[in-house]
Amino acid sequence: MIVSLHVATGAAAGALVRSRPFAVLLGPALHVAADRFRHEDIPDQSFEIGSGLASLALLAVRRWLFDPAVLGGATAAAPDLEHVLPFLRPGGRKLFHWGEQPGGGISTDAQLLLAGATVGFLLGRRR
Ligand SMILES: [Zn+2]
Repeated sequence: MIVSLHVATGAAAGALVRSRPFAVLLGPALHVAADRFRHEDIPDQSFEIGSGLASLALLAVRRWLFDPAVLGGATAAAPDLEHVLPFLRPGGRKLFHWGEQPGGGISTDAQLLLAGATVGFLLGRRR
């Protein structure tokens, strides 16, 4: 899944559970669950990182840095760091991304739309 959609689903879950520790724990589990769906990915790493960070920054400014939605969004996106940081995959093994189905499935357009709608909803809504 695209990074900003991971941020969006983690943030939505955090906003729903309203518990910081629970939001932090839920994030990576949601990441793995979301990646199980067949999906397209955006092959542009700087767009991925930029849009993910931008979504998180908007949420943090609007809601507060340690809001459960911000923490959930951050930990939901965090597993994708293993794509870019070699020390996160000792022996070349990825912890969160095994057996992913390549290509097809949910288009990047649909994911972007969903991410934007979810983040927009969370921004429009105060805690
Ligand atoms: Zn992933």
